Amino acid sequence: NPFGDYVWEFRSPRSKFGPGALNELKVDLERLRVEKPFLITTKGWVKRGIVDRLREILGKDVPYWDGVEPEPSAESVEEAAKALAESGADSVIAIGGGSALDTAKIANLLATYGGRVRDYVAPPYGEGKPVPGPVKPMVAVPTTAGTGSEVTSVAVVTLKDVGVKVGISSDFLRPSLALLDPELTMTVPPKVTADTGMDALTHAVESYIAKPYWARERPEDPAKRPVYVGSFTVTDALAERAIELIGKYLRRAVYQGRTDLEARSGMLIASYLAGLAFGNAGVGLAHAASYPLGGRYKVTHGEAVGILLPAVLEFNAPANYEKAKRVGELLTGEKCPERDPAKCAEWAANAIRELQRDIKFTPGLEAVGVKEEDLMEMAKETLNQKRLLATNPRPVTEEDVYWVYKRSMRNY
Ligand code: NAD
Repeated sequence: NPFGDYVWEFRSPRSKFGPGALNELKVDLERLRVEKPFLITTKGWVKRGIVDRLREILGKDVPYWDGVEPEPSAESVEEAAKALAESGADSVIAIGGGSALDTAKIANLLATYGGRVRDYVAPPYGEGKPVPGPVKPMVAVPTTAGTGSEVTSVAVVTLKDVGVKVGISSDFLRPSLALLDPELTMTVPPKVTADTGMDALTHAVESYIAKPYWARERPEDPAKRPVYVGSFTVTDALAERAIELIGKYLRRAVYQGRTDLEARSGMLIASYLAGLAFGNAGVGLAHAASYPLGGRYKVTHGEAVGILLPAVLEFNAPANYEKAKRVGELLTGEKCPERDPAKCAEWAANAIRELQRDIKFTPGLEAVGVKEEDLMEMAKETLNQKRLLATNPRPVTEEDVYWVYKRSMRNY
């Protein structure tokens, strides 16, 4: 049986997509049976008139907090939690990029159950307390096409004092509704479009090649089969379509994103599909090795994972040459011109490098100031990311991570 003797679960919020979908928010809140929403967003969105627009859509004032930071710090998230708790709201609307969505997820947790960010962060950086239970209903409205945070159970926050980014993950943090309106992404500047597009591509590729991994006991199953995590039929279908859409639309979104609604729509669907894929299948080495980078250098999340992606695909190819080749074929719409599977994996990685060159993506680690003498220490740190490496299709040593970093110093 090619579908295996296992149980899988696919987890996803209710989702809605379309130009102007935000105008339906009133009905969506009614469906959620909430009456007092609180908006968490950025200063940029307040300038672009989001508060007035919500007043028009909902027919009343919505209290808000607009202090979201890019790659948010724990302090900013705790501030948002305080504002949310004091507002007496019964629900949360998050509008912005992944930073706004993640801030809202954790603020919602802290406003509901109290405590600090560190309480929920895994050791050595925190107490590692599990999220106790449901939080307030949350509507997630992404305005970048990248993180997929509108459908995932994860929120990422930066601990500034120790210089690391950490994730808090729980099924309870998954938004109640993902409300995707591509019109809201038209104003994303070209560099952010490129970085977030690479984030989406990395989610799609890493979840596509993710290793089957027996993750969790399921006490409810008399046969005692664990839940299956890693790529499976559903996540493969989503990841394949996401890669195809990114190959077709990312260049257009970067160069003519102010007017090209089709390209923006294609990219927003791609990041959503990729979010569903990695939210269920997991990611791997590109994400694990990006965390030490994010703490040390001035790189966005999309830049860090995207720079590492071509080398990670090459490194992982021997685990499944067929899938590595498919990545190239989906991205380019062409067949691999080589016969040798290893050559096809390289060809696929080069297709990613070409796309990066075309969209003027950061050309490599060198360009963000990484020095060769730092690589070994970062490689050591990467091995601490056990949750992320668990689904990487090949086992990873320090030398392997070093090889990936070294190869990513200059991609084009
Ligand atoms: P972001 O939210 O930081 O936004 C990047 C910049 O673009 C910001 O300055 C923002 O104000 C601006 N911006 C956003 N939308 C805009 C629009 N429509 N028009 C003009 N400007 C706009 O970037 P991001 O890449 O979306 O999110 C990054 C964060 O998400 C990181 O902290 C990363 O670690 C996290 N992340 C989370 C998940 C998850 O599943 N929770 C997955 C991947 C990444």
